[in-house]
Amino acid sequence: MPQLNDLSEILSYSPDIIVVGAGNAALCAAISAREKGAKVLICEAAPENEKGGNSHFTGGAFRFAYSGVDDILDIYPDISPEELKNIDFGSYSVDQYFDDMFELTQYRTDADLCETLIRNSHASAKWISERGVKLQPGLGRQAYKIDGKFKFWGGLALHIWGGGPELLKALYATAEKLEIAIAYETPVNQLLMQDQRVTGIKASHKQQSFDLNCKAVILACGSFESNPEMRARYLGPGWDLAKVRGTKYNMGAGLNMALAAGAMPYGNWSGCHSVAWDVNAPPYGDLSIGDQFQKHNYPYGVIVNLDGERYVDEGLNFHSHTYAKYGGEILKQPGMQAWQIFDAKSTSLLRSEYFIRRTTKAEANSLEELAEKLDGVNPRKFLQTIKAFNEACDTSAQFNPNVLDGKATHGLTIDKTNWACPIDTPPFHAYHVTTGVTFTFGGVKVTTKAQVENIFGGLIPGLFAAGEMVGGLFYHNYASGTGLMSGATFGRIAGSSAVEFMGANQ
Ligand SMILES: Cc1cc2nc3c(=O)[nH]c(=O)nc-3n(C[C@H](O)[C@H](O)[C@H](O)COP(=O)(O)OP(=O)(O)OC[C@H]3O[C@@H](n4cnc5c(N)ncnc54)[C@H](O)[C@@H]3O)c2cc1C
Repeated sequence: MPQLNDLSEILSYSPDIIVVGAGNAALCAAISAREKGAKVLICEAAPENEKGGNSHFTGGAFRFAYSGVDDILDIYPDISPEELKNIDFGSYSVDQYFDDMFELTQYRTDADLCETLIRNSHASAKWISERGVKLQPGLGRQAYKIDGKFKFWGGLALHIWGGGPELLKALYATAEKLEIAIAYETPVNQLLMQDQRVTGIKASHKQQSFDLNCKAVILACGSFESNPEMRARYLGPGWDLAKVRGTKYNMGAGLNMALAAGAMPYGNWSGCHSVAWDVNAPPYGDLSIGDQFQKHNYPYGVIVNLDGERYVDEGLNFHSHTYAKYGGEILKQPGMQAWQIFDAKSTSLLRSEYFIRRTTKAEANSLEELAEKLDGVNPRKFLQTIKAFNEACDTSAQFNPNVLDGKATHGLTIDKTNWACPIDTPPFHAYHVTTGVTFTFGGVKVTTKAQVENIFGGLIPGLFAAGEMVGGLFYHNYASGTGLMSGATFGRIAGSSAVEFMGANQ
C-alpha cells in the first residue's frame, strides 16, 4: 500500500476517511471502506517493523457460528477428504455462541452488540477468507484425537493459519492492492470537531505535529492494556505490575480522545482479559515469541501459589472458558505468581508453548525433588496439597479431554470438577507463571453500525469505532477467539457505515 513517508505527503493526501491504528480491526475497516469507494488513510503510531498491534501477537483463534461441516467448507474449501474423515467438527450454533457469551459475561454482554457479533460471525470469517486470510482446523488446541478421530469441543473449529503474522500479511497485501495509504510513526492524539461533529485529526508524524481534515474517522487503536497508569486506575491496585502480552502502543489514546470528544464510556472498565504467562517474559510482547509465553493447559494438572496451595478449580470448564479470568486470579496470589504442575500422564496433552526454550520450568523424578525446585513455594505445604489432591481424585471415572468428563475430586476446600487425575507418575514437570494482560474490556458505546454514541445517547457524527475500543461486549470473562472476530465484524461494519455517512453528508 502506498506508504506516506513524510509530512508533506500526508498533508497533501486529502483522505475521505482516516482509520486510526493498523491492527486487525483497522485493516478490516480500511478495506471495507475502500471497497465501497472511499479514499482511506491509515495512521499508525508504531514504526513499520512493529506494525499490527495486538493482532500481530495472536495465535489466530477465530470464533464463528456454524451449523455443520458445509459451513466449514464454505470457509475452508481446501480440506482433503482424508482430513474430513478424521475430524468431527460437530456444530457451533448461533444459540450456543449466545449461551457462551451470556454465561461468560454473567449475562451482561450488550444484547444488540453481541447479536451483531454472533449473527455476522460466519459472514466475517468468509469475508476475511475471501481477502486472502487462510484458515485451518485448530487440531490439538481445540480437539484431541480419541479413537482415531479429532472431535471439536468448544466452537473454535478454524484458526487463522499462521496466527497473527499471517493474518496481517494477508490483510496488508489486500490493503496494498486496494491502494490504501498508511503513515507509520503517526500517533493520533485528538479529534478535530466542528459543531459537535468530527472533522479530522490532530496527530504527529515522526514528532512533527499536524492537523488533517477528513469526512469520517474510524478509531481502531486498541484499549489501554499497555498503559500501567490506566491499568492501575481502572483495573485496580497491582495491575500496573502485570506483564503485557502484546503491543506497547495501546496506551488508551483512542479511548481518551473519544471521551474528550464526548463519547459514552461503556462496558467493564474495571475488567480485562489476562492469562497465565511465563514469569520471566519481558514487560511487553516479543514478536519473536508471539503468544508462546501463555500456559493454558492447567485443566490437566493443578495450580499452586507460593504458599503451596491450590486457589482455583483448574477443571471448572474447558480452558477457553476460564483462561481469560484465571490470569487475574494469579495477581491476587502472594508475589503475583503461581506454578502449574503436571505429571507424565498429561505431557502429550500440553500445547507447543510448554516446550519452547524460553519457558521457566522445573522437572523432577519425585514430588519431593520437585518441591525443592519450585522457586518461592513452601515445599512442605506443596507436598501436603498434592497428597490431599491425589487422595481426593475419583479413580473410577474415565478421563476424556474432549468432554467435561466429570472426573472430579471430592472433599477438598476447592474441588477440581473435571479431568482430576492424581499427580503420581514421574517425571513431574512444573511451569512458573504470572499475570499477562491481553486487553482491557472498557470501551466506548457504539451502535450496531459502529457509530460512536455520545454521553447523552445521541451520535457523534463522523466518528466510528471497532476492535478493542468497542465497549459492552466482554464483562468479567471472554470466549477465546472473539477478539479477532469482534475486530473483523465491527471493523467491516465501521468501514461501510463511514462510507454511508459520507454519502449522506456530501
Ligand atoms: C498474545 C495475544 C494473543 C491473542 N490471541 C488471540 C486469538 O488467538 N484470537 C483472538 O480472537 N484474539 C486474540 N487476542 C486478542 C486480540 O489480539 C485482540 O482482541 C485484537 O487483535 C484487537 O484488535 P484491534 O485491531 O482492536 O487492536 P490492535 O491489533 O492492538 O491494533 C491497534 C493498533 O492501534 C495502534 N495505535 C494505538 N494507539 C494509537 C494512536 N494514538 N494513533 C495511531 N495508532 C495507534 C497500535 O499501534 C496498533 O497497531 C490475543 C492478544 C494477544 C496480546
